[in-house]
Amino acid sequence: RVAHDTTVIDRVYAEVLARNPGEGEFHQAVHEVFDSLDRVLAKNPHYVSESVLERICEPERQIIFRVPWVDDAGRVQINRGFRVQFNSALGPYKGGLRFHPSVLLGTVKFLGFEQIFKNALTGMPIGGGKGGSDFDPKGKSDAEIMRFCQSFMTEAYRHLGEYTDVPAGDIGVGRREIGYLFGQYKRIVNRYESGVLTGKGITWGGSLVRTEATGYGLVFFTQRMLEQSGRSLDGARVLVSGSGNVALYAMEKVHALGGTVVGASDSGGAIYDPNGIDIDLLRDVKEVRRERISAYASEKGMDVEYREGANVWQVADGASIDVALPCATQNELGEDDARLLVASGVRAVAEGANMPTTPAAVRVFREAGVLFGPGKAANAGGVATSALEMQQNASRDSWSFEHTEERLSDIMDGIHARCAETADEYGAPGDYVIGANIAGFTRVADAMLALGVI
Ligand code: GLU
Repeated sequence: RVAHDTTVIDRVYAEVLARNPGEGEFHQAVHEVFDSLDRVLAKNPHYVSESVLERICEPERQIIFRVPWVDDAGRVQINRGFRVQFNSALGPYKGGLRFHPSVLLGTVKFLGFEQIFKNALTGMPIGGGKGGSDFDPKGKSDAEIMRFCQSFMTEAYRHLGEYTDVPAGDIGVGRREIGYLFGQYKRIVNRYESGVLTGKGITWGGSLVRTEATGYGLVFFTQRMLEQSGRSLDGARVLVSGSGNVALYAMEKVHALGGTVVGASDSGGAIYDPNGIDIDLLRDVKEVRRERISAYASEKGMDVEYREGANVWQVADGASIDVALPCATQNELGEDDARLLVASGVRAVAEGANMPTTPAAVRVFREAGVLFGPGKAANAGGVATSALEMQQNASRDSWSFEHTEERLSDIMDGIHARCAETADEYGAPGDYVIGANIAGFTRVADAMLALGVI
């Protein structure tokens, strides 16, 4: 590091800590990006003189609101809603909504911060934002979900718009919730403004491939990384954490490309299925029946091992694993898990979730020479396909599955190339973390500078 730039980075990081007390995940996300930036500041002193680091860490607008709703027993319930409009230098704020009891302002800020650079990396005209609520959808009836979504939108609508801020799904928010949110938005504004939300149903403004996009895109990116060292997913043994939307479609694409997914998990435990996960059965258990992953093991019988309370990385203990795809949630893969994976022979790790790998685990992978695809590059296929949905809405068109998947695949190629070239340019060949952070940051920073003091 150049002494001068380290001083700037350390000073701004100390300011971020002081101004945002208690927001550990946000601090972690900022630190992770700043860690790559010393080389950039050395080459571009105007980023320092124009205070770009200070500006980029402060959201343009943060909205916190009460979400009152009535449960099936007639009791009034109160949740907290958030929307952090982080950066709109490249386009309208874009990013999902997360409904999960763990959601705090700091969670939404970490996700929004990641989203700025992820969206920039796609090369598309979308800014960064994120939102959500501490509402827990688990165990709620369909009618309760609907009333909650309607109440959430009754406040949120005034901050949204196809040229202003375009939410989508994230953990706890899928097509059903987007439907209820869109229905309420449409009633309030009296406009069929399809482009205000993405992840919509196919029959009312959604895009084909959006459901599959994050998982498919993750696997396309992983394949590109492996190809750089003359390998591929064909014949690879793969672990995928989680069993939600990202995980399920990642598994499907791994199988389509000749790999075998041998482990999966949910918050209750992990399964090891050495012959390859039966994805149709897993989807039925998780998405249709909404049961625990243990039901998969009881149904498949003998060959499948269920480990109550374990995470999926422990499956690597004594096994041979080639690829790991963390697709559950933040900080789910720690240092010990990383060591197990390295010992099992893992060649590539790519993040389907946002910030699932702890900083210590990332260090273990990098030191062992494991290819590592950070989420802001590897899982950008979801939001990129959201931008394709916005394009279709704006032109009142709908594209075929094949065409849309081809666009997604090209976009992932572009992100991979941008990361690889930037890493080369800044003297860190093969380092996708540095490549993604620098390529994302410089695109946003240059747009901010062009727009004046914003
Ligand atoms: N929640 C997804 C993400 O983390 C998708 C956001 C979107 O489509 O706007 O990128």
